Amino acid sequence: MLEKKQIRKTPFRQEVLKLFKASKNAISLKEIERNLTSFDRITLYRTLKLFIEKGLIHEVLHSSGKKYALCKEQCDEHQHQHNHLHFHCSSCKESFCLKTHIQDLNLTGYIIEQTDLSVHGVCKKCNN
Ligand SMILES: [Zn+2]
Ligand SMILES: [Zn+2]
Ligand SMILES: [Zn+2]
Repeated sequence: MLEKKQIRKTPFRQEVLKLFKASKNAISLKEIERNLTSFDRITLYRTLKLFIEKGLIHEVLHSSGKKYALCKEQCDEHQHQHNHLHFHCSSCKESFCLKTHIQDLNLTGYIIEQTDLSVHGVCKKCNN
């Protein structure tokens, strides 16, 4: 996955990527830090920035802070190809990517320049 995005493989980058692959939901910087065996904050910050630039992960914005999630679609360098909704659960506090895209909202005639697609509520798991 790193080679495909032309990112030089380092043990640290591989470890960070593994974390993203292992988690179904978006993860915060704190959660990433908690799961790393050892890290240097600047290296971690640079790694996340690089992953975002290369289209490997994207930011999931929330009023309480920023989280990061793995890109599912084909994202390229400097070009993220998705406009999907993010769901924030008020019960389990998890955030995750939804399969609903902005195209599904039927905004014919509107020119979209920027999107901030956040949905807040109770997720399926917590609603059971
Ligand atoms: Zn992306
Ligand atoms: Zn939940
Ligand atoms: Zn997402």
